[in-house]
Amino acid sequence: MKPAHPMALSIDLDEWFHGRWATGGPRSRWADTASVFREVYGGDRPRGDIVPAARWLLALFAERRITATFFILGEVAEWYPELVREIAAAGHEIACHGMHHTDMTTLSREAFTADLRRAKELLEKLAGRPVRGYRAPNLVVAPWLADVIRELGFTYDSSICPARSFSGKYQDMMRCPQHPYRTGAKVQDTGNGPLWEIPIPTFPLLRLPAGTGIATRLFGAWWTRLALAWWARTGSVQFYFHPYEIWNDPLPAGTGWKTRLFMKSRGRTMQRRTAGILDAYRGRITSLSGLLEKLERAD
Ligand SMILES: [Zn+2]
Repeated sequence: MKPAHPMALSIDLDEWFHGRWATGGPRSRWADTASVFREVYGGDRPRGDIVPAARWLLALFAERRITATFFILGEVAEWYPELVREIAAAGHEIACHGMHHTDMTTLSREAFTADLRRAKELLEKLAGRPVRGYRAPNLVVAPWLADVIRELGFTYDSSICPARSFSGKYQDMMRCPQHPYRTGAKVQDTGNGPLWEIPIPTFPLLRLPAGTGIATRLFGAWWTRLALAWWARTGSVQFYFHPYEIWNDPLPAGTGWKTRLFMKSRGRTMQRRTAGILDAYRGRITSLSGLLEKLERAD
């Protein structure tokens, strides 16, 4: 079955230690990224595992003439400014993933706003163009998110996954549409606001995440492909994944079995599954801002 609608493609340019099990969530192993470097790398910087993985993706996208959106953390931009410039120079969209990979619900609105402003300015300086899109770390959103990102000049958010809520994630999201929509007072609300939401689709009926590399690794490529094909009959869909998923960096010593299970099928297996998904949407893949332009024209 050939999908009738486009697929927006995005990459969250996170390192493995930005996963909620490692940092940024209530039950994380480390308090922040600095503690990861001290313990795992024995210094004050990461080792740079993300760089070859991101370059591999840039080569794959160039070969397939794909333009994607990269959601980038301010701290990642500070560690690897050259990588951000490379991504922008290759014609991909630079979007913002916050300053650090922290659940925003653990921050005050003021602290979140100050961090986000800093990250956006940093990315705009490196990209040489305005940053329009935002995605919340861990897809955890606060009720004031829509107000803050509108104030800072973002035109779309992509933090909604209309899944059933579990372990503090996807709260109040199951009622959200699977296709892009104009938001209301909150990013979960539909409305007439200038801010758009570009959601990450879930598996039909079961309402578990599907348009994410994490689901592709844990449940298999068929899971993501079936869900995306289902929703692509009625509107555009989105798929996103992380560089660490298509790479296979060893996890630190002492990593528990639950985390190992959560991090399964990285590397070549995931490269193959991702390539299969991209092939199924050949000629219909777009960046998120590219999709938004189409939606605004049609609106
Ligand atoms: Zn992330």
